[in-house]
Amino acid sequence: MAQVTEREVLDRLGTVVEPGSGKDIVSLGMVSGVVVRGGNVGFSIEVSPQRGAEMEPVRKAAEDAVHALSGVLSVTAVLTAHRTASAAPQGSPQSQPQRPPRHGAQGQQPLAPGVRFIVAVASGKGGVGKSTTAVNIALAIAAAGHKVGLLDADIYGPSQPRMMGISGRPTSPDGKILEPMQNYGIKVMSMGFLVDEETPMIWRGPMVMSALQQMLRDVNWGELDVMIVDMPPGTGDAQLTMAQQVPLAGAVIVSTPQDIALLDARKGLNMFRKVDVPVLGIIENMSYFLCPNCGHQADIFGHGGARSEAARLGIEFLGEIPLHLDIRETSDSGQPIVVSRPETEHAVAYRAIADRIWQQLTAGTGTQPRQAPRIVVQ
Ligand code: ADP
Repeated sequence: MAQVTEREVLDRLGTVVEPGSGKDIVSLGMVSGVVVRGGNVGFSIEVSPQRGAEMEPVRKAAEDAVHALSGVLSVTAVLTAHRTASAAPQGSPQSQPQRPPRHGAQGQQPLAPGVRFIVAVASGKGGVGKSTTAVNIALAIAAAGHKVGLLDADIYGPSQPRMMGISGRPTSPDGKILEPMQNYGIKVMSMGFLVDEETPMIWRGPMVMSALQQMLRDVNWGELDVMIVDMPPGTGDAQLTMAQQVPLAGAVIVSTPQDIALLDARKGLNMFRKVDVPVLGIIENMSYFLCPNCGHQADIFGHGGARSEAARLGIEFLGEIPLHLDIRETSDSGQPIVVSRPETEHAVAYRAIADRIWQQLTAGTGTQPRQAPRIVVQ
């Protein structure tokens, strides 16, 4: 089958009319970021923030139009909006006391309705091992017999395809809903499956949210006990919006001893507290260096900072994971240590953390299904 080209996609989008002006969305300059990867097509439609909900039919029409092209397997159109100066948050997140209701931006179906607990794994900054921790925890929860999904929301640097050892692209039998990828018994979705690693992507806040919503809403997650969301690093607007709008049951903060000292992890805590997402606890990663040859333990970054900080902040210390070559090698080669070497002390440590997370999730709800936040249609 001939591969669809960007030109063909744009030509077809030129037939989609924006009802307000009666003109097509391409000549209005609303279409950008067209990505064609095999038969999978993605693009964004720029709208004014006020018109997000009313433009949903246009987004849908654009997806349908492109989907009708021969050779197209899946289409993902996201609505994006420039924030106007008046809507932009002033200063740090702390200076915004208002707490908008959590809802889908396009106010449609609930996000991932079959998922019992959605848990964010977050960090104050990049490179602390957040993705490695997220993948190992997801697999450890699955090892305890639960149904688990892993959503790579780290759209700036999606690493879950590599860490989970998954290549290829998701299929979409009906052209609307994507089938998640799977490995080691868990379902996985990542922008990394849809977009070339080399493709430069410039993500603005609303676009991030829209992409995340689609990865929750337009993916056949089915019934899951837990979905682990590997969040983008940091505590900026995009992360705050996500924490607000995704119905999170809780958040886990990953931090290195250094990071704790630099207060980055505390910013993460504050962000979730501000939007009423329970922080289930903090994990100290690269806690100490365990020499692979002699087993000697060296506290390179001053191990233990997270434990005392957690106590001070009144949150649970979930556990510590050493800096160890085996953890790096297994996660970077697509064979996370929890599944490839389940007998090791590192795998045991991840499983203990996963147990604690599960206990916390179920403690408040007993056997009742989680009460999802109400979806507000705006
Ligand atoms: P983040 O998601 O915070 O950017 P990653 O999970 O991608 O961080 O980890 C960054 C690098 O550090 C990766 O190469 C990963 O394999 C490695 N790494 C993460 N945690 C550990 C650990 N405990 N011991 C050794 N290497 C680790």
